[in-house]
Amino acid sequence: MARETVTAVCKLCGQAMAIEIDTEKYLEMTNSEREEWVAGTVIKNCKCEKAKAVRKELLHKNFKAFIHSDLVNFLDKFELEEISIKTSEGFKAKIKKDTAGNLKVETTIKEVV
Ligand SMILES: [Zn+2]
Repeated sequence: MARETVTAVCKLCGQAMAIEIDTEKYLEMTNSEREEWVAGTVIKNCKCEKAKAVRKELLHKNFKAFIHSDLVNFLDKFELEEISIKTSEGFKAKIKKDTAGNLKVETTIKEVV
């Protein structure tokens, strides 16, 4: 399987890096898809503080979305009273049903990623 090496610059810090992609996949992409993929990959891999902050924000957003959809549905489906989770990033959430049946959500986001 051939690999394509693309040199990309992090828009947040100006650092250049080489990223690899499957040549077949690369050739199938349109120019705008390539741009989007390259930008996303740079954000995922750059070690600068700004890229870290963007990654953390994205994780946080996904985490919140997960809690307010999948996790709440899970609690409802199995008629649980309380559920606590912790992710490998150190995000914690607790959902509790009070006596009136209302859901209370508590989340804790650790500051270190
Ligand atoms: Zn960067």
